[in-house]
Amino acid sequence: LAVHLISFFFSKLQEDPTKKVDRFLHAMRLHDDQLIDISARFQAEMKKGLSAESSAAAAVKMLPTHVRSTPDGSEKGQFLALDLGGSKFKVLRVKVREGMGVRKGGVEMEEKIYPISKELLNGRAPELFDHVSESLKDFLHVKNISLEKKHPLAFTFSFPCEQTRLDKGLLLSWSKNSRARGLQGKDVVQALREAIDRTGGMDIEVLAMVNDTPGLEPATFRLQGKLPTLEPRSPTMMTCGFDDQYCDVGLIIGTGTNACYMEELRHVDLVEGDEGRMCVNTEWGGFGDDGALNDYITEFDQDVDATSINPGKQIFEKMVSGMYLGELVRLVVLKMTKLGQLFDGLVSDALMTKGKITTAHVAAMEEYKNGLKNTRDILVELGLNPSQDDCIAVQHVSTIVSFRSSNLVAAGLAAILTRIKQNRHLRALRITVGVDGTVYKTHPQYPKRLHKVVRRLLPECQVRFVLSDSGSSKGAALVTAVAQRLASRKRQ
Ligand code: BGC
Ligand code: MG
Repeated sequence: LAVHLISFFFSKLQEDPTKKVDRFLHAMRLHDDQLIDISARFQAEMKKGLSAESSAAAAVKMLPTHVRSTPDGSEKGQFLALDLGGSKFKVLRVKVREGMGVRKGGVEMEEKIYPISKELLNGRAPELFDHVSESLKDFLHVKNISLEKKHPLAFTFSFPCEQTRLDKGLLLSWSKNSRARGLQGKDVVQALREAIDRTGGMDIEVLAMVNDTPGLEPATFRLQGKLPTLEPRSPTMMTCGFDDQYCDVGLIIGTGTNACYMEELRHVDLVEGDEGRMCVNTEWGGFGDDGALNDYITEFDQDVDATSINPGKQIFEKMVSGMYLGELVRLVVLKMTKLGQLFDGLVSDALMTKGKITTAHVAAMEEYKNGLKNTRDILVELGLNPSQDDCIAVQHVSTIVSFRSSNLVAAGLAAILTRIKQNRHLRALRITVGVDGTVYKTHPQYPKRLHKVVRRLLPECQVRFVLSDSGSSKGAALVTAVAQRLASRKRQ
C-alpha cells in the first residue's frame, strides 16, 4: 500500500509541476504577516542607524547625504556629471536652464557610456579612477567642450559613503561587483580629484558627490514642492491630485538596491541642527548583516553570500537585487535537479557554473506571452533537456525568487513610509516614490507586484510610483547646481 501511495503521490506531483516548487521553496514565499514582521524589524534598524549611540555598529547605516537645499529656480548653467556604480559607467553633460531650474523640460542631458572591465573593478582604485577621469576627458573631446574653461562636476557614486559634507565622503565598503583596492576608508572625492590631476589638461571642480538613490528625482521633486506659491503647479499633477511636495522617497532596484527618504533633521543625530529635513541614504542593502533576517535566510541565500566578493555583507541586497536573482534561481534549479525533481536528475556543466543564469534570464522567463518558450530556450542553452513540466517548474522557481524580491522591497518601503507618516503626525499619507534600476525597469511583472504589495501593506497610504529614468545623474547635477548657488551667495 505504501508503495502505491507513494507512486500515486508522485504521479500527482507530476501533474502539477508548480506544486512541488511551491513546497520546495515554501521558505521563499513570504506571507503578509511575515512581511509585516520584516517591516517592523527594518523600522527598528532605521532607528538604530539614526541614533548617535548605536549608529556606528548599525547594519543599516542611515547615512546623512547633506542634500537638503532647495533649488529656487535661479540655478543655471552647465554641469558635467559622472555616474559610477550602477549597471553602466556614464559621463554626462547636464544643462540647467535658468528660471526653469528643476521643472520638467528645464534640464537637458547628454550622456556617453564607457565600459569598465572586471579587471579595473577588481584592481587598484587609482587605476579605476584614472579610467574614470580619462573617460571624462574623452567626453569633453567628443562633445567639443572647451578644455580651457573651468567646469563644475557632480559625481554620482553608488556605494556607501560617510559624508560630512556634500563634497567629501569616506568609502565605507564596496558592494555589488566592485572591490578596487586602496579606497576603503578614504575620501572618494579626493581620489577623483587626484585622478583628474593625473590625467591633466582639464579644469574640473568636483562640487558634490551624491549616492545614486538620493540623486533620484525625489530630491529635486521635493525641492520643487517647496515653491507652490512661486510657480503654478503643472496641469498633469493637478489632474493626478498629487503635488510634487509628496515625493520624498527614492528607490533603486538594479544591480544593487537601496532607498532614501527625507528625514526630520532633529532625528539625524550625526548632523547638527533641528530644523527642516535631510535626505538620508538608508543603505538598506545591509539589512540583515547583523543577523536580523536570519529567520528568513534560506540555504540558497547562504550559498550566494558565501561565494560573493563580500561574504556576510549586504544580506538584504543579496535577496533582492539584480546581481543575485539569476544566481538564486540557478542554485534552486541545481538543487532540485540533484534531488531528481527536474530533468530526470541530469545536471549539465553550465547549470553547475556560477553566473550562468542572469537576471535578464529571469525577466525573460516571466514574460507574459513568451515566458514559457523563453524558459525552454534558456534551459536548452544551458545544455539541459527539459520536458514541458520542467519548463513550467523552472518558470515557477523564477517567479518565486523574483516575487520574494518585490515582497522584501515592499516590506522595507512600508517601513520607510510608516516612519515618514509618524514623523509628520499624519493618519494618512500621500506620497510619491521615485524608482530606478534595471530590475524595476526590465522585469515585466516586478513593478506591478511591488505596487500591489505596498498598497496592501499600507492601505492608509496613497503611494504613487514614478519611474525616474536617469534621475540619479540629473538629481546629482541639480544638487550641484544648488551647492554652487549657495557657495556663490556665501562669497558675496
Ligand atoms: C550600494 C548603494 C547603492 C545601491 C544601488 C548598493 O550596493 O551600497 O550605495 O545606492 O547599491 O546602486
Ligand atoms: Mg544608477
